[in-house]
Amino acid sequence: MKKRIAILGSTGSIGTQALEVIEQNPDVFEVEVLTANNNVDLLIRQAVRYRPNVVVIANIEKYAYVAGALHDEDIKVYAGAEALSQVVEMDTVDLVLTAMVGYSGLIPTYNAVKAGKQIALANKETLVVAGEIITKMAREKQVDLLPVDSEHSAIFQCLVGEYMNPIEKIYLTCSGGPFRKKTLEELKHVTVNDALAHPNWDMGAKITIDSATLMNKGFEVIEARWLFGLPTSKIDVIVHPQSIIHSIVQFEDGSMKAQMGLPDMKLPIQYAMGFPKRLASKFTRFNFPDYPTLEFEPPDTKIFRNLALAYEALDQGGNMPCILNAANEVVVEAFLKGKIRFLQIPDIIEEAMQKVAFIKNPGLNDLVETNSETRTLTELLTEN
Ligand code: MG
Repeated sequence: MKKRIAILGSTGSIGTQALEVIEQNPDVFEVEVLTANNNVDLLIRQAVRYRPNVVVIANIEKYAYVAGALHDEDIKVYAGAEALSQVVEMDTVDLVLTAMVGYSGLIPTYNAVKAGKQIALANKETLVVAGEIITKMAREKQVDLLPVDSEHSAIFQCLVGEYMNPIEKIYLTCSGGPFRKKTLEELKHVTVNDALAHPNWDMGAKITIDSATLMNKGFEVIEARWLFGLPTSKIDVIVHPQSIIHSIVQFEDGSMKAQMGLPDMKLPIQYAMGFPKRLASKFTRFNFPDYPTLEFEPPDTKIFRNLALAYEALDQGGNMPCILNAANEVVVEAFLKGKIRFLQIPDIIEEAMQKVAFIKNPGLNDLVETNSETRTLTELLTEN
């Protein structure tokens, strides 16, 4: 039996690479659902090529266009947020790959877990915003949250066969992004294009900016906290500019296990979708002479303050990580539009964290409200 996959966010960087993985493994996977926000032309091309049962266009205004284009294709077309949340419950879906960007992944992922679907989790913001709620429900529904994020996939792979052995510490590796070793003075003048030029990974715009500010690593610390049930004190970040070691687990005997390979997201995508099997691949293999040196250094949280803010948000708990995420989404957008400078990013996020009302034990609705309250406030802060 083939695994029937729903890809939420099929037109993004992770979604398109997941479709390549499916295409390489036609006997193992089958596309059941494709969804996109706005990129209708690519969604239509994907639908014609991969023959899903259902496509969803989140933007309702684009429904007629998509439905018209797929009229003769025997593919059901739905639109809107409600449809997005419903398709993950379909009986014909075995695994949901959550690859949408940012907060928008929260409710569909929540519904997929609630419906008992296996999850290949590429949308880290879901766990940043609502890690406690999502992981608790995943345990109740016996749903696996299979990490697609390369660092968490690395930890997950290192833990296979180690379930009885407590973790002493994990090290999330971090490339350092395009601004590693830059001084505050130099960072005053960096442009959007500088920030978009990531040295090792080819990713979407939002995550690439998050990598330049190290907020991406901060989010990954929070994601790891929930995926692996670890306190903050057991989660460390180490800068490793070559991005060959994808993360490390240290056990109580001092032994460290690392997972390594060339930086290519298709590998963790395929591992999550194929789990527990490793599927043969033709991905480019690591060649030792190309990497005579692997380097490691601590992150500079005085310059890249977002990483420190993320640890702080995690320590405070409650709705604080949700505030962190919402403020970050607004400032990244403002930075991409040239409305604010690079170094204003952590300042504005910190101000939002101080101003939005703290809730110690938020429910899902509290988080939805925190998100919109924080967005409104942060929009104002980026205008000044
Ligand atoms: Mg990552």
